[in-house]
Amino acid sequence: MLFPPHILLPGPTPVPYAVQQAMLTPLSDHRGAVFQEVARRVPERIKQLLHMDPNGKVAVMPTSGTGVLEAAIQNFFMPGDTVLSVETGAFGERFKTVAEHQGVTVQAITYPWGQAFSPAEVLDYLDQHPVKGVLVTHNETSTGVLNPVETLGQQLKDRASRPLLIVDSISGVPSVPMNMQDWAVDVLVAASQKGFMCPPGLGILAVSGYAEQHLLPERPGRYYLDARPYLNGNFPYTPAVSLWYGLDQALALLAEEGETTRFERHRLLSRITRAYARAGGLHLLVEDQHASPTVTALGLPDAITPADVKSRAARLGLQVAGGMGPWHDRAIRIGHVGLVDAADLWAGLGVLAHVLPDGPSALEKGFAEWHEFLTTKGLD
Ligand SMILES: *Cc1c(COP(=O)(O)O)cnc(C)c1O
Repeated sequence: MLFPPHILLPGPTPVPYAVQQAMLTPLSDHRGAVFQEVARRVPERIKQLLHMDPNGKVAVMPTSGTGVLEAAIQNFFMPGDTVLSVETGAFGERFKTVAEHQGVTVQAITYPWGQAFSPAEVLDYLDQHPVKGVLVTHNETSTGVLNPVETLGQQLKDRASRPLLIVDSISGVPSVPMNMQDWAVDVLVAASQKGFMCPPGLGILAVSGYAEQHLLPERPGRYYLDARPYLNGNFPYTPAVSLWYGLDQALALLAEEGETTRFERHRLLSRITRAYARAGGLHLLVEDQHASPTVTALGLPDAITPADVKSRAARLGLQVAGGMGPWHDRAIRIGHVGLVDAADLWAGLGVLAHVLPDGPSALEKGFAEWHEFLTTKGLD
């Protein structure tokens, strides 16, 4: 294939050249010195990236993100335990489904699509209904909402007896801020194919020192996803070695860019996309205040369908995502997560402008937003 597609998807995301190269490292005994060095370094780097407490531990498992959502349930909750699921879209709902399949009793607070959860409402609910865990989505990929996990965590932290706070940040970290220690996030789930700029196939389960004390010693149905060997650096089953080499390299690149630059880059991509959408006759389905830095859902004018936009864009070399759930027939989603900079976004928005009724005006306004950013930063 001469031209790979331009992808503006909320996963999978583009993979840096250095990561592709690292994945070609010759295979060797995963108990040998070369891989063991990587196996030691990767969790250490993730621990720093997520600002974990000194006793925190990281498991890297050979599954997509959903497998680690399942691991998060299996390792902390017995069948019959009760958890609260706070849902702001399709992925919040999926987390509930995963828990239900594990025999856990799930109570739910469900928000309308496009809204963020309210920490005060969650805390009120917990005052009335004691539960063993709270499941929340950090960045709801189906709607493009960044939820206030920081506020919730900090307010839960001071309670004498508190449920475990379990966070799906698969499309959040490391593109948006996360401080597991300060925010008292007990368990965090991430995956390789979004902000970590790797191919799909590795899931990350980060467990705080506090949460580790709540790891279940016995749990019916748990075998492959028993987190304990993974957390302790053991490999009872063959690790996905090549992906580990890639992730190790990606973590080095992330450290090189630095979190301040990375967070600002993703916020800028969201701002450009939103300015572009406003001027292009598209509906922003989430308020500015809760807009995700990594994915933007755009409501389309009645005259065009998501399927139409997707196929016309794809013919021109651009892949964007469709809407999910109730937004399936009215929205598209632009992923701007991981290895995406303003130049990449512009290539995509330029293609999309051809498909939109108000394309030229969208380009102009999006451009003005970018120009203002560059001028303010002295970067032009
Ligand atoms: C992508 C995503 C998932 C699912 O991850 P898979 O790797 O496809 O299993 C779950 N939650 C969120 C928030 C996501 O963005």
